Amino acid sequence: MSFMNIKEIQLILKQLEIIPNKKLGQNFLTDTNIVKKIIKCSDVSQNDVILEIGPGLGTLTEELADLSKKIYGIEIDNRLCSYLKEKLSIYDNIEIIHGDVLEIELPKHNKVISNIPYTITGPLIDKIFFNINSPKGILLLEKNIANRIFLSGNYKEYSRISIGVNAFMNPILISDISRKSFYPIPKIALSLIKIIPRDDIHPFLSEKGSINFFLKFVAGIMPYKNKNIVNAIGYFLKNLNNTEYTREKIVKILYENNFENKKVFSFNIEELIEISKLFYC
Ligand code: SAM
Repeated sequence: MSFMNIKEIQLILKQLEIIPNKKLGQNFLTDTNIVKKIIKCSDVSQNDVILEIGPGLGTLTEELADLSKKIYGIEIDNRLCSYLKEKLSIYDNIEIIHGDVLEIELPKHNKVISNIPYTITGPLIDKIFFNINSPKGILLLEKNIANRIFLSGNYKEYSRISIGVNAFMNPILISDISRKSFYPIPKIALSLIKIIPRDDIHPFLSEKGSINFFLKFVAGIMPYKNKNIVNAIGYFLKNLNNTEYTREKIVKILYENNFENKKVFSFNIEELIEISKLFYC
């Protein structure tokens, strides 16, 4: 392994005149055991085309090079990009792309392996995984978000991200990761998770329009997750300026489709998808 310890990382950052930027979530991996763990649970094969978001100093990227067919590393920091392009030029299957992962069109890939910039976790998961044909993901991310992804039945943890992930993916917790495995040490706790696309995604979530509506519906009713579904849908539609549905109409539609008027958090994901379908507009 061409692994860099903390001292070497500090030295390179100094040479590149980089002060790690919190807004970009620049916390670099310094623990070789964590890198090994990520590689092990990624089950990388020579068929895999990998997307790495924020390769940073290339620690993970380089380890993945010999194991996979191709790696695309999307890095927003120009100085890191120049460094990576030079350092990794000996590998003809690594392509470093300078850009904001949230803005650019992503190259085709079947796995995302990444210590992701925690500042953009929500929109990143949204862009990459809330789709049909999503890639597998092996992600180091904020523990708070990971906890919410593993629906525990505690309604407080229900959110757009938890419902969205579980609608499209099966999440697996690999382990919590010590903050001391990074330089600089992040303020937040981190977890390593694996997310695998579901092979039984609800048919309503098979095209962009209905996917977007479902995600909008979930985001719209989740602020009212402790209220009855009729009220939550009423608020959601009101916020959309949709006057087509009176309270009576909402009650009738739900009743005719055998849905009780109970608390939002007591519905499971499949039921929430079915309900969103009834109000698709
Ligand atoms: N992969 C490296 C590692 O594990 O040591 C660095 C991980 S660090 C947590 C996150 C990386 O993502 C940084 O290199 C940062 O510059 C980059 N980054 C932050 N926001 C980004 C964005 N919107 N698009 C692409 N890269 C981004």
